[in-house]
Amino acid sequence: MQSLSNRVALVTGASSGIGRAAARLFARAGARVVVAARRQSGLDALADEIRAEGGEAATLAGDVREEGYAAALVALAQQRFGRLDVAFNNAGTMGALGPVTGMTLADWEEVQATNLRSAFLGAKHQIPALLAASGGSLIFTGSFVGHSAGFPGMAAYAASKAGLVGLAQALATEYGPQGLRVNALLPGATDTPMGRSFMSTPEIHDFVRGLYALKRLAQPEEIAAAALFLASAASSFVTGTALLVDGGVSVNRT
Ligand code: NAP
Repeated sequence: MQSLSNRVALVTGASSGIGRAAARLFARAGARVVVAARRQSGLDALADEIRAEGGEAATLAGDVREEGYAAALVALAQQRFGRLDVAFNNAGTMGALGPVTGMTLADWEEVQATNLRSAFLGAKHQIPALLAASGGSLIFTGSFVGHSAGFPGMAAYAASKAGLVGLAQALATEYGPQGLRVNALLPGATDTPMGRSFMSTPEIHDFVRGLYALKRLAQPEEIAAAALFLASAASSFVTGTALLVDGGVSVNRT
């Protein structure tokens, strides 16, 4: 397994799905982890699992739309574990789906705030700590939606996720000279509460599976494995990229 030994990693959206799987995998790879989401109970359960496997985890519940939370997570990593090497900004929402003509400004802004503003706030506060640790890795969870495919009803989500690719590209060039790598990880449909909420009927589930070259959804652990690659030295020359981990949905035409 790729090693995060002696590393400290921050994972947002860790109470569920991809973030939860990534925090567990990062801990198994040797990282001490700070885990973030709004639901304290979910974070506590995860931290218990990590500690039961011999790992170290610190929790702090809060809202990634708030700047104070972004700052507090970095402070926790530094106070508890002395440094920050990896920040996986993964928390996200699909938001209300529907045609843009019926979308309220509040719906639009809710999605941008959760998916894109949070990434800016996270990066702003994480980058000084990542630079201080040297050889850091900053990762955003985007989506193939808004990058290699469009879907009706997903304008706010697609725009927010496309914004993360632009943010990763700009930050990669801004901080590359100081050794910080910045990448976007773009999953395909993944078997998580978010992924399942989209597939409300067996017919929609079958339709979605059929879009994929692999004819199935991802398990969160498969996306977490790609996050570990981007977090670890295995990807030491990878920066500014949008890494599709999408089961071939972007290329499939069958
Ligand atoms: P999930 O199981 O619903 O998890 C979403 C996570 O984000 C939860 O831990 C949630 O925690 C956290 N979160 C949401 N809003 C938050 C807020 N305002 N403040 C703090 N935490 C917040 O979904 P998932 O599938 O693992 O999604 C993870 C990421 O992958 C998202 O960015 C999503 O857009 C992306 N993605 C998912 C898929 C898919 O098919 N599942 C595909 C492509 C990309 P709390 O509710 O406890 O706050």
